[in-house]
Amino acid sequence: MRRSDVARLRLWPGLSASAANVITMSRYRLLPTPDQEVGLLEHARHARYMWNLAVEQHAHWQPGRTSAPGYTEQSRQLTEARAAFAWLRAGSQTVQQQALRDFAQAMRNYIAGSHRRPNWRKAGVHEGFRQVAVRAEHVQRLNRHHGQVWVPKVGWVRFRWTRRIPDGVKSYRVTRDRAGRWHIAFAAIPTPIPAPGTGAVVGVDRGVAVSATLSTGERLHVPVLAGAEQRRLVRLRRRLARCRRGSNRRTKIKAMIAHLAARAKDRRKDWVEKVSTDLARRFDVIRVEHLRVKDMTRSARGTVAEPGRRVRQKAGLNRAILAHAWGLLVSRLEHKAAGRVERVVAAYTSQTCSACGHVARESRESQASFRCVACGFGCNADVNAARNIAAGRAVTARGALQPPGGAVNREPQLDTSLIW
Ligand SMILES: [Zn+2]
Repeated sequence: MRRSDVARLRLWPGLSASAANVITMSRYRLLPTPDQEVGLLEHARHARYMWNLAVEQHAHWQPGRTSAPGYTEQSRQLTEARAAFAWLRAGSQTVQQQALRDFAQAMRNYIAGSHRRPNWRKAGVHEGFRQVAVRAEHVQRLNRHHGQVWVPKVGWVRFRWTRRIPDGVKSYRVTRDRAGRWHIAFAAIPTPIPAPGTGAVVGVDRGVAVSATLSTGERLHVPVLAGAEQRRLVRLRRRLARCRRGSNRRTKIKAMIAHLAARAKDRRKDWVEKVSTDLARRFDVIRVEHLRVKDMTRSARGTVAEPGRRVRQKAGLNRAILAHAWGLLVSRLEHKAAGRVERVVAAYTSQTCSACGHVARESRESQASFRCVACGFGCNADVNAARNIAAGRAVTARGALQPPGGAVNREPQLDTSLIW
């Protein structure tokens, strides 16, 4: 994800930068006609008006006081405002309503301490609105490079089809940046999958190499760039470094790199979808290592950025990809198997015998094999670790992962308990 995308995400109430992994966010360049642009700006103006109205109402609210006016109260006010102002009434009610919902969520985030206080939105700076209850037929592909999206009161607006649209799009946000460019970001949360009800528990160990291992003994291989593709990528990057800034050649090479990266990314996303669905279907409880994936990715990225050493560059690249895929897998699992995923303290999982519980560093014979020095139990080292994870305790740090049996909000961004 590019820095600009992250910055944009922060503008989404209730959606922190780290949530970018949880909810599929795909951003595309929107290509409205001049007429449509007028309509889009109207939506943005209405959304901003409602938002600022809510900011005003909450201006005197301080943490610790009793509840601020909630969404229900504001919804009543929206009805009144629409009755009073013809220009507001002429706009889309769902857009205006959503602005209030977004604000209510931003306020909850502020109260919970995870976000800053929602503030005034300014014309020309915060031009955007959100549309919810988006159905599959609202997004269509026109040809290889273009698609169209249905915007209420505006009609079909074309956008550049630069990558796959995520499955299960529930909402989108339309924004205009200060340069006057329009973008659309689709947000999707996968549908939850019912537990099999067999009581089956699985542990997933993040492998050292390019795989994850299940306590059942199965090995999962994250698709990384194939050898030839990887060599090509490295070659292109080197050529890019030699190009003059602003040259046509540079633009062309950049496009080739982006294309290659997008293809690999699609492949990984497909993999994550398949694996998470499969695990959610087969097991009641899925236990994973408690890892700080964000940090791992970041350090690996630093390695990629280091120029000159090709081998390290490639290794770092795949490590970053792997870490990212892992994070994505866990996020997806948490949505598809909501309330059934547990994070387990990963310490000593590789040194503990999954048969007798004896902890000894010597039991780890090598990278690949485990043989308990106490009971003699022998097993693949990763499978042994996965079994320990399957039997492990859940981490409750950073708040409960999911309230047991709690309601799961299906609308993206509205349930921060899913996001941390
Ligand atoms: Zn043992």
